[in-house]
Amino acid sequence: MPTLGIRFESIGGLGAHLAAQLLAETLVLRQGLNASQFSSYGSEKKGTPIRSFIRVADADTPIRVTSPVTEPNVLAVFHQALFARPSTLAGLRRDGVLIVNASADATMALPKGRVFLVDAMAIAVEENTRINTAILGAVAKACPLIDAKALAAMLEEHFSHRSPKLAEANVKTFWRGYNEAIERVIKEGPEPPPPDGATAAPRLGYETAPLGGAIVTPGNTVTNDLSASRQGFAPKLNLELCNDCGVCDMVCPDYCLVWESEDVTDDGEWERKSAHLLGIDYQFCKGCLRCVESCPSGALTKEREGAWVKEQQVPLWPQKKTQ
Ligand code: SF4
Ligand code: SF4
Repeated sequence: MPTLGIRFESIGGLGAHLAAQLLAETLVLRQGLNASQFSSYGSEKKGTPIRSFIRVADADTPIRVTSPVTEPNVLAVFHQALFARPSTLAGLRRDGVLIVNASADATMALPKGRVFLVDAMAIAVEENTRINTAILGAVAKACPLIDAKALAAMLEEHFSHRSPKLAEANVKTFWRGYNEAIERVIKEGPEPPPPDGATAAPRLGYETAPLGGAIVTPGNTVTNDLSASRQGFAPKLNLELCNDCGVCDMVCPDYCLVWESEDVTDDGEWERKSAHLLGIDYQFCKGCLRCVESCPSGALTKEREGAWVKEQQVPLWPQKKTQ
């Protein structure tokens, strides 16, 4: 068997690292194969990109490569928002298979080839679990090398250390992901981008290598998008109940509440600033729901994500100007 490469593309908080770890352990400990797994991520923070890599080979084939899987046979994308990054699909083999956390009617541009769609978020919300085990179910369906029963048994063993109820819910989530994943063969679609780092020029060489320490793909907080971190729920604001106390702003780790401040003149003698909550910039909201738990007036509630998020979006930049 040639070495098989699996890559998970995700966002911190969705459980991709754990899913990859449990899959690799299943392949080694329960299927007698050889496998290696590691993840690559920045700060351990919800909302930051994470990639997890698995290499699988026969038991007697040593795996000596320890670099990221740049040309995966199996590629799982944990959130549709990740399609905005060209590197997400980079290097997917033409004979490879893509697994996407998306409903069957999702409209993103899928690349040519075999694709499995699974609405992992809906399953996880219904089973009160995380999306990672639902996606593992879809991965097991898409990749016949994986013994689905062995993987389910591994999940049961892992989660039963925490609670039998959690184990049962995760195994159910896994089988729902397996059974509800829908296969599509995309005939008309874009080619996946070339592998990361692939250029027409030689990869190595003093003329082509980036300078040490150079940031070749600079980012910016304004363009950052944390919406992929939400686990199916978002805070909904009812302005009629809000008294502008500011508690939500104090607990929000990502400063995504949008305020308007205005000068108030008191009998013409002195001025003070008064702030009014306008809404939430959902681009930066990772769905931690601390604001909901802290709001004293019930103006913020936990709601299942839907079209309303777009309707209630209030952008942080540019802020509404006050006169
Ligand atoms: S859920 Fe609330 S506290 Fe958490 S990031 Fe979103 S707005 Fe901020
Ligand atoms: S905590 Fe609640 S009442 Fe206070 S400003 Fe935020 S939304 Fe309004």
